[in-house]
Amino acid sequence: MTHIIAIANQKGGVGKTTTTVNLGAALADHGKRVLIIDADAQGNATSGVGIQKGAVDSDIYDVLVNEAPMAGAIMPTAHRNLSIVPATIQLAGAEIELTNQMAREMRMRLGIEPIADQYDYILIDCPPSLGQLSINAFTAANAILIPVQAEYYALEGLSQLLNTVRLVQKHFNPMLNIEGVLLTMYDARTNLGAQVIAEVRKYFQDKVYDTIIPRVTRLAEAPSFGQPIADFDPKSRGAEVYEALAQEVLAAHGESK
Ligand code: ADP
Ligand code: MG
Repeated sequence: MTHIIAIANQKGGVGKTTTTVNLGAALADHGKRVLIIDADAQGNATSGVGIQKGAVDSDIYDVLVNEAPMAGAIMPTAHRNLSIVPATIQLAGAEIELTNQMAREMRMRLGIEPIADQYDYILIDCPPSLGQLSINAFTAANAILIPVQAEYYALEGLSQLLNTVRLVQKHFNPMLNIEGVLLTMYDARTNLGAQVIAEVRKYFQDKVYDTIIPRVTRLAEAPSFGQPIADFDPKSRGAEVYEALAQEVLAAHGESK
């Protein structure tokens, strides 16, 4: 079975893309066939796995707006078992262009269907908004993984996110689950982090992963080299924690080693 997971939080800068790329690479290192779908016009997941914009022929925009086959947009990466459907800046127009199209919420799901069984995990990197692109991702996904930055106001905006999840469940995808909530950018030097963790655990209970992603510079440096942390600095703390997260995700699907 293919697990389709949307990595979502309409807040920017909470670690969605970092989690998509590094969880994807870590799952691939467990021998899973992983596809990342970049659904953010920023294209940070695309460049983060080393794909140059100039090398892209067909991207997620073509799939969503022009109904091009997903298979034609899939590109291999330098990381074994890890492929990506890239995004380029033209995706910025998709929100508006989809507005007047038939079955606009279903485009991602329809695009994934024919290629799904080639992968064990499909991770969709969502944009920082709850517009058509995120709704497409939620309609296509089995579950959403929510990165939450361990800082004040961490929970702010999450009721809006959960509301969108409920609307998508009601209208398009009754099977949509919460995969898990991931605390990110934790800074052990402040007391604040511990308070926030307690608050998030109280709210989401056992949905919160035991693994907490610390704020570490190596994770911020890796994208400019176009590499997941597992390749950029495999012995680093960042690589270790995303490997721990991958093990939790695998265990949740009864796939631990
Ligand atoms: P989002 O996709 O939610 O906007 P990103 O994953 O792009 O967030 O992260 C925002 C910025 O923070 C990026 O520059 C990224 O490299 C950096 N970053 C993400 N996670 C960490 C971390 N755990 N430690 C340090 N920097 C991080
Ligand atoms: Mg991002």
